Amino acid sequence: MESFNLWYGKHREACTCGSEHHLAVTERFEIGDEAFLLLRSFLSEKNYKNVLLVYDENTWEVAGAKVFSLLNGSGFHVKGSKIPANNQGDVIANEESIVHALLAASEETEVFIAVGAGTIHDITRFVSYKMGLPFISVPTAPSVDGFNSKGAPIVVRKKKVTFQTHAPVGLFADTKVLCNAPQEMVAAGFGDMLGKYTSLADWRFGHLTGGEPYCEAAAKMTEEALEACIGHARLIAEKNEKGIIELMNALIMSGLAMSLFGHSHPASGGEHHLSHYWEMKFLEEDRKQLLHGEKVGVSCALIADFYKEEKEKLLEASSEDAAKQIEKILAWIPEGNVLRKYLKQIGGSATLEDIGIEESLINESLASAHSIRDRKTMLRYLNESKMRTV
Ligand SMILES: [Zn+2]
Ligand SMILES: [Zn+2]
Repeated sequence: MESFNLWYGKHREACTCGSEHHLAVTERFEIGDEAFLLLRSFLSEKNYKNVLLVYDENTWEVAGAKVFSLLNGSGFHVKGSKIPANNQGDVIANEESIVHALLAASEETEVFIAVGAGTIHDITRFVSYKMGLPFISVPTAPSVDGFNSKGAPIVVRKKKVTFQTHAPVGLFADTKVLCNAPQEMVAAGFGDMLGKYTSLADWRFGHLTGGEPYCEAAAKMTEEALEACIGHARLIAEKNEKGIIELMNALIMSGLAMSLFGHSHPASGGEHHLSHYWEMKFLEEDRKQLLHGEKVGVSCALIADFYKEEKEKLLEASSEDAAKQIEKILAWIPEGNVLRKYLKQIGGSATLEDIGIEESLINESLASAHSIRDRKTMLRYLNESKMRTV
């Protein structure tokens, strides 16, 4: 996937945002039919012999077993760590899972391989970072944009905390595995991308009104990835190979934009804060978890309408010039029902009823979710201006 490195080469020198972007550590991106063979040669090139695979019951079935036997039969010393599900049947990136992966590692371990979706990546990313070892990403579904980012959201004592760790040294995704992913995971990946409408809007608003650091190149990169997804919605819905590759590329682009910028601003705004809030509530109440992107898609549609309804308040405290720009930012976000139509088209959850978020939780999260991160989103602005007028 040369295009990512080319993009970086083009923008690194020329970036106008004022900050120096650090070279992403991901040396190789391979999406295709031969990804696992290329993974094997990559390990040889890097001279990694002792490998620890991290997976769960499902991802072992779809890819783990294949990678394990391919490497084991080629002279590598492969160990595995199968992360168990909790009583609700969910694999969670929490203390227990982290210790589970740590126990499988040994002094000989040289590299970790995450075989799975977002959660398996978060566990592997965190543990490998703490052990000072690299990790390789093997995504089993195009379900989230975090494969190649640095952030590891970990549940600590039932609270979700994001740690800045490291990006994988390589990403190897087999197209057949991705195309066979369940429809709801494809829809979740699309939902995570759809969330960029409000995350980018929040970022631009926060930069304009609250002095948040901003990089137009990282924003553009994320916006282009979003547009590619919208442009291929039909092919993605059909799980056509081209559509799935477009979605995976978009998720990687979004992860890369975060990686280059050094923070999650391009890809995470009020819609992610709502989603994190719901997730923590579900954890507290021992409810079965929803897919990350599933929540983000639905919360994006909710918050899109909320921001538009509160337009007057968002404009009132700004200078005339800034107000004009905020109007443009708001107009760029599609209406909630347009976003829900996209989600339905891909075959995912579209409404709050679909994902079982009750009225009281909607209201509670709209009033409090901004406090999850210290970020100047429109959600924060609206809640804090309410406090000022009380
Ligand atoms: Zn996300
Ligand atoms: Zn920049």
